[in-house]
Amino acid sequence: MMPSLFLSHGSPMLAVEDNEYTRFLGEYGRRNRPRAVVVFTAHWEEPVVTVTCTDSVYGTIHDFGGFPDKLYAIHYPARGSSTTAAEVRRLLKEGGIPSREDETRGLDHGSWVLLSRLYPQADIPVVQVSVNPALPASGQFRIGECLRPLGREGVLVLGSGATVHNLFRLRFGQSEPEAWAVAFDDWLIEKIGMRDTASLFAYNREAPNARLAVPRPEHFVPLLIAMGSADPGAGAKVVYRGYDLGSLSYLGFQFGP
Ligand code: ZN
Repeated sequence: MMPSLFLSHGSPMLAVEDNEYTRFLGEYGRRNRPRAVVVFTAHWEEPVVTVTCTDSVYGTIHDFGGFPDKLYAIHYPARGSSTTAAEVRRLLKEGGIPSREDETRGLDHGSWVLLSRLYPQADIPVVQVSVNPALPASGQFRIGECLRPLGREGVLVLGSGATVHNLFRLRFGQSEPEAWAVAFDDWLIEKIGMRDTASLFAYNREAPNARLAVPRPEHFVPLLIAMGSADPGAGAKVVYRGYDLGSLSYLGFQFGP
């Protein structure tokens, strides 16, 4: 049984840095080796759930600007899995959620930066899935719920985003987190721990500083999808917590055993 996971992909520099978080990711990947990874990435938005469907090696999309050259030289040569992609689409269809497939898109940095630290050998097949930030929170969760059988099949559902993600609030050179960001994450940890989905679905009204923390929900919704995809009876735990640039959150959750 594979748990589901929500992780912050933070700054693309994670691909080349050696810090507490990258060491955590490496350690987590060594202990948890799924048959395949289905990653919902904040950096791919589509109105219809879109699933990469290929058995080839992915291209690597360097969808960021202003970083050192060495970051643009990185390629993460994971393969796709058309059978896992078909399984994802079958489960979504069973749940009444339309989807479509994409045979050409590469892995964006929401996917490859994390995966390159979790599975540096690129030896685990990857299926990449889009998000739609316009759906209500309950609709995000519902997408995850459709995919619950994947964990039992040894497939890891990974939500890649960030809980607190406000690029206008980054404070360069500041390592201490801002109180408002900490308060938002504290609320999330409490509500997720209680499995209080009613509050979580109303996070934008009920959570402290929600508008500051989540000015636009594309980085937040992978959390709701990952939570929905896990066995509801198996609980949740914080696997990592940290901040960079004052408010960029590295809070991560494991859902399930
Ligand atoms: Zn991002």
